[in-house]
Amino acid sequence: MRMVIGYTSAQAAGQDGERHDDRGRFGAFGGRYVPEGLMAALTEVESAHRRAWADPAFHRELDELLRDRVGRPTLLHSAPRLARTLGVAGVRVYLKREDMAHTGAHKINNALGQGLLAARMGKTRLIAETGAGQHGVAVATVASMLGLDAVIYMGADDMARQQSNVVRMRLLGAEVRPVGSGDRRLKAAVTEAVRDWVAHTESTHFLFGTAAGPAPYPRMVRDHQSRIGDEARSQLLAAAGRLPDHVIACVGGGSNAVGMFHAFTGDPDVRLIGVEAGGRGLDTGQHAATLSAGSPGEMDGSFSYVLQDRDGQIARTHSIAAGLDYPGVGPELSHLKDIGRIEHAVATDAVAVHGLHTLCRTEGIITALESAHAVGHLLELAERGAVAEDALILLCLSGRGDKDLAIAAGLLDAG
Ligand SMILES: *Cc1c(COP(=O)(O)O)cnc(C)c1O
Repeated sequence: MRMVIGYTSAQAAGQDGERHDDRGRFGAFGGRYVPEGLMAALTEVESAHRRAWADPAFHRELDELLRDRVGRPTLLHSAPRLARTLGVAGVRVYLKREDMAHTGAHKINNALGQGLLAARMGKTRLIAETGAGQHGVAVATVASMLGLDAVIYMGADDMARQQSNVVRMRLLGAEVRPVGSGDRRLKAAVTEAVRDWVAHTESTHFLFGTAAGPAPYPRMVRDHQSRIGDEARSQLLAAAGRLPDHVIACVGGGSNAVGMFHAFTGDPDVRLIGVEAGGRGLDTGQHAATLSAGSPGEMDGSFSYVLQDRDGQIARTHSIAAGLDYPGVGPELSHLKDIGRIEHAVATDAVAVHGLHTLCRTEGIITALESAHAVGHLLELAERGAVAEDALILLCLSGRGDKDLAIAAGLLDAG
C-alpha cells in the first residue's frame, strides 16, 4: 500500500503507466496502482468492456436478462406519506426502488453486466470479494444463471457475522472461501481474490462489486449502475413532469450513488447529494465518511479519497450498515466532489435508524440500513429548513432490509 498525502495532480498522475488513457482517470483520481502481473488482465477487461458497450447485441442480451431475470425497470414509488412528515408545503418525494430488484439490491445490475462480459470473454469462473455478503450473493446468483463457477472470498470474521448470506451463496452453488489473514474482513478478502486472479487470469474474471478499484472497474461498474439514474430520470419526467431539485443516495464505495447521479450530472440545477456513514459521529473517529473526512491517497489499486491517518495508515471504520463500512470511495465521486458537482453529507447511525423507522411507518417499506442513511438525511434536511416549498426529491433506495432484521430487532428491544 503506497499512500499519497498532500498530493498534486501531477504527483498523482506520475504514479502509474496509463496516464495517457483518459478512460482510467476522473480528473486527478482513478488510475491503476497494481502489481505488474495484473496489468494485462485489466487491459483485457477494459477492451472487452469497451467493445461490448459499443455492441448493440450485448445490450440486447443484457436488457433482456435485466427485464426477465432481475425485474427491471424497478419501480419509481411516489411517497406522499413520507413527504408529509417533512412538514414542507407542496414537497414531493419519489423513491427509486432498487430493493425490488432480484436479490434485493442494486448490486445485481453490476454482477449481471460483468457476468455477461465474462462469458463473452470465454471465462468459465467468476471470483469476487464480499464484506457483508450482498455482493457475493449477487455474484453467486449470476453465476448460476449463466452457468459459470463462482468462488467468493470472505473474511472469516464477516462469515461469522453474516451466516445467512453464507448459506445463500452456498445454496446457489458458489464456493465461499474463508479468509483468516489480515483484518479477517473485506480488505483481506480483496487481497485473496486478487491473488487468485493473478494465478488464474486465463479462466477467471474478477467481478469487483463497487465503483472503485483500478481502471476499468470504476467506469465499468458506473456504466452498469447508470441504469438506475437513466430509468429514474425518465420515470420522474413522466410522473412529475420535470427534473428533481435534489437527488439523494447513500455512499459506500459509491456504485449506487454514481449510478443514480450520472444521468443528472449535466443538469446544473439538480443538486446531487451523497450521504456517507457518520457512525457514532465524525468527532468520535468511528465512522466511514470518506468524502467528508478523508484525504486523497492510494488504496485498493486506485487514487481517490481515503480515510487514513497522517502516516497513510488506513483508518478503522464503523457503520451500523455493513455495506457502507469501507474506508475508501471511488474516483468518480472523488472528482465530482472536488469540482463541486456533488455535495456530500453525513448521517450517523442514529439518523439512519430514524430514517429506517420513519420509512417503515409511512410507506410500508423495510429498507436496508445503507439506504436508510439517505432517508434519515432527508428528514434532517427538512428539520434544518433546507428543503424548499414545492421541492421535488428523488431518493435511491439501494436495497431491502431483510439482512438487517437482527440489528433492527435489537433496536426494538432497546426501546
Ligand atoms: C453494498 C450496498 C451499498 C453500498 O455500496 P455502493 O457501492 O456505495 O452502492 C448500499 N446499499 C446496499 C443495499 C448495499 O448492499
